[in-house]
Amino acid sequence: ATMREDRIKRTKTVCTYCGVGCSFEVWTKERDILKIQPQPDAPVNGISTCVKGKWGWDFVNSEERLTKPLIRKEGKFVEATWNEALTLIASKFTELKDTYGPDSMGFIASSKCSNEENYLFQKLARGVMGTNNVDNCSRYCQSPATAGLMRTVGYGGDAGTIEDLKTTDLVFVIGANPAESHPVLATRIKRAHKLHGQKLIVADLRKHELAQMADQFLHPVPSSDLIWISAVTKYIIDQGWADDDFIKNRVNNFDEYVDSLDKYTLEYAEQETGLKKEELIELATTINEAETMCICWAMGVTQHIGGTETSTAISNLLLVTGNYGKPGTGAYPLRGHNNVQGACDFGTMPAWMPGYEPVENEEIRARYEKAWGVSLPRKPGLNNHQIVETIHSGKVKGMYLFGEEMGLVDANINHVHAAFEKLEFFVVQDVFFSKTAEFADVVLPAAPSLEKDGTFTNTERRIQRFHKVFEPLGDSQPDWKIFQAIANRLGAKWNYKHPSEIMDEAASLAPLFAGVSYERLEKWNSQLWPVQKSGESTPLLYTEKFPFADGKAKLYPVEWRKPYVPDEKEYDLHLNNGRLLEHFHEGNLTYRSKSITHKVPQPWLEVSPELAEERGIKTGALVKLTSPYGEVKIRVWVTEHVSGKELYLPMNTTDEMEAVNMLTSSYHDKVTHTPNYKEMSVKMEVIEAD
Ligand code: SF4
Repeated sequence: ATMREDRIKRTKTVCTYCGVGCSFEVWTKERDILKIQPQPDAPVNGISTCVKGKWGWDFVNSEERLTKPLIRKEGKFVEATWNEALTLIASKFTELKDTYGPDSMGFIASSKCSNEENYLFQKLARGVMGTNNVDNCSRYCQSPATAGLMRTVGYGGDAGTIEDLKTTDLVFVIGANPAESHPVLATRIKRAHKLHGQKLIVADLRKHELAQMADQFLHPVPSSDLIWISAVTKYIIDQGWADDDFIKNRVNNFDEYVDSLDKYTLEYAEQETGLKKEELIELATTINEAETMCICWAMGVTQHIGGTETSTAISNLLLVTGNYGKPGTGAYPLRGHNNVQGACDFGTMPAWMPGYEPVENEEIRARYEKAWGVSLPRKPGLNNHQIVETIHSGKVKGMYLFGEEMGLVDANINHVHAAFEKLEFFVVQDVFFSKTAEFADVVLPAAPSLEKDGTFTNTERRIQRFHKVFEPLGDSQPDWKIFQAIANRLGAKWNYKHPSEIMDEAASLAPLFAGVSYERLEKWNSQLWPVQKSGESTPLLYTEKFPFADGKAKLYPVEWRKPYVPDEKEYDLHLNNGRLLEHFHEGNLTYRSKSITHKVPQPWLEVSPELAEERGIKTGALVKLTSPYGEVKIRVWVTEHVSGKELYLPMNTTDEMEAVNMLTSSYHDKVTHTPNYKEMSVKMEVIEAD
């Protein structure tokens, strides 16, 4: 027995799925995963996990793993050695750069990969290839929240931690479904609501689990959030309920902001949003009576033409009511992927160096130029939306993408595929042969988190260490090693032996991470940025000042933008989309986890009982959805989660079915270019009624 137990290895890791950032021990014997064992010391989740964290790991040993580099030859992929693949990549990258200039390349980073890997990738794009055309998938989700927060309070991250969500008087959730998308965080909210009398208000199109238990549920007309949020803010000010001291001492621009609210009366809001005056007064009263409030939001807010404006309106409401800088207050844009926060933090964004320092600032660039021994491009680069458009217009010719399923998750996917087909040279690096890989010239086999060391940053800005459990499968390699090999083939002289050295470099250059180090992240320790040189973390932001020149926050006037939806006469149904508890995003990993797929093998379309009756269909019916951009055939689930003419389609896909992004358009948020995934109308034809 002892011998058997001796061979069982326990390794601390951090969940590879959502941005909550649960950590736990993986128990393994050779390459078998015996169990996932949460520990009371885990800072976020203690002894909890959700179904994905608990069961979603067997993809690591999937027979479908990529284990060798692949090169496309005469239209077919053939296995190659690393040497062949790297030689080809180096010669093609050099050729593109020499022929068309560095900005003929686009670099797409991964929110699933580590901070260190994202740091190295942007160093490769900027420092070796000479372009700022580098972005990550936060462009598809929370970039508008980041932009709205940077305008008003200065940092593009959650203002506090899950502790604040547990202890606040009022949790207000707008356009988010934490019970399925951020399950362990949702259990904290549910518990505080049930046991400690915490108030919960939910605004959403769907009556999801948290909506069902909320003290107040608001169901506005799709895309009208800015109007009712601004109307409630105006009502609070008009009633004399604003936090005058906070505004006087800590906030700029109050008068101009108040003037901008003139038109947002309750009557106007009632007319435009469908919410009754009484509902808005009840909401304003609850906010006023709460000592402290946290607002959580996600893609129901951000994925609109006016996503940044609505995120700004939320932050304005928090400022007016003094809900920043105290325990139990603040803005909580809930992060999707495990490391979407970290990918942004560590600089895979076209306008920002690591730690949100602008690429345009000469002093900042000089700091990196000196450390890296290169000269850096001065102008912000293209984001992933612009990269697609610029491939179509012929200026971007090559692309390097890792750990990102852009070929399924980007909006208006037929248009994106057409762009991929125009590329002269496309490198895709992933754990599996993805949909995106079908368009590649070279596919490189990467190692998932269990096969490497590194750190992830969760939605709370919490940096946590994960440790290597297995050797990389076959010839696959950790992403950071692949970047280093490519950089060195292109003439760099990188010599990182361990990700800790990459973090040391990032910490020495980006003040936001000054005191981050692997020594300080041992065991269950974590650090929340900004991290002082002394190692001191910042669990709660803005306690003394906002990171602007005079230390004050800024109220920022915003205008509502009419959503873009196709002609409503022909396309008569509103299509919403989002996640499922069991599958993560497009399902690239979870569909390869047998324990999960046997529970939920495919997506379905939620249809309201009223609409089902009108069209004469039952659960199980097969329908065809059509938008101006494409069509999808899918089975129906009749449910009261949705009402009237609103449909809901989960964003996961299967091999047989590409779902929601066959239908979405290329319209996008004006500030950040985040696609307006949530502004879509479709028509529905019945193929089989039951
Ligand atoms: Fe993983 Fe998120 Fe589930 Fe936690 S809540 S186990 S981080 S998917």
